[in-house]
Amino acid sequence: HAKAAGRNRYALFGDHMNQLLRARRELENDLRHAIETKTQIEIHYQPVYSATTGEMCSVEALVRWRHPKKGLLGPDIFIPVAEEAGLITALGLIVLDDACATISAWNDLPVSVNASAAELKLESYPLRVLSTLARHNIEPGRLEIEITESLLLDGSGQCERTIAALRKAGVRFAIDDFGTGYSSFGRVQDVSIDRIKIDKVFVDELSRSGNNGIIVGMVSMARARGLEITAEGVETEEQREMLGSLGCDHLQGYLLSKPLTREQFASVRTKTVSDAGSKAISTSPVP
Ligand code: C2E
Ligand code: MG
Ligand code: MG
Ligand code: MG
Repeated sequence: HAKAAGRNRYALFGDHMNQLLRARRELENDLRHAIETKTQIEIHYQPVYSATTGEMCSVEALVRWRHPKKGLLGPDIFIPVAEEAGLITALGLIVLDDACATISAWNDLPVSVNASAAELKLESYPLRVLSTLARHNIEPGRLEIEITESLLLDGSGQCERTIAALRKAGVRFAIDDFGTGYSSFGRVQDVSIDRIKIDKVFVDELSRSGNNGIIVGMVSMARARGLEITAEGVETEEQREMLGSLGCDHLQGYLLSKPLTREQFASVRTKTVSDAGSKAISTSPVP
């Protein structure tokens, strides 16, 4: 009797696993198709503002996937799939190419894009990036590539070489989600970058507990190293004021603007240059 129940449980578990695996394989196949045809991948743009003047200073390109059945999917759902399925370098190139095509019409506005470890480990990555910029007639100094701390821990030195080569050509680098990886301060000493982006968890902590110690430490480290500082995930007026007075250079978050479609961005761009910071841009929610 007990044995039979165990078998049933096992059979149920097996069914469930099969379902999960099937769903996963399907998502992977759909993503491969989306990347091959380039039709369902879109980019939303989140403005980044000066903490001192309130002017819009740049935009971050954030990828989305308009799945024919599941609707608009955010990167947290499909970037891990792309990474595991070996599709991330192809996806990264689509994002870069598409973002460059779009921003080439937006005067001199700088753009940042997120890159995964697998992209930076690719030997051909610097050349791919520089030729994409050249094709769209965009100065390398207008592009900032956001990477995470974990990428600097791989030990091979390949990512460091890639960063050095691109920085030599004028491309800028930022450490995204700064403070969430370990040995943040240590690794940032050795690798030359241009900016840290303080993760939202520290911004939330600041207004929840009033404890500004961590951010003060990050700002002073960044200042000592000549790095610029962006605070991410700014959602309240209080956070905006505190972050500005602690010396952050740039602010990004829903308080100021959510990520916008290309069309939404084009229609607010001219307005926001003069109003930024004093008025939030509210739009329909995006994931
Ligand atoms: P990230 O680069 O740290 O981007 C910030 C994320 O926080 C974005 O989520 C953005 O929409 C969201 N965000 C911005 N302001 C606020 C706020 O005030 N409150 C809250 N709650 N959230 C805010 P999103 O677009 O879902 O992107 C998630 C992550 O996916 C990104 O984090 C980035 O690591 C990754 N990602 C996005 N696009 C790409 C890409 O093209 N390639 C790669 N490799 N990764 C990407
Ligand atoms: Mg980012
Ligand atoms: Mg981040
Ligand atoms: Mg993130």
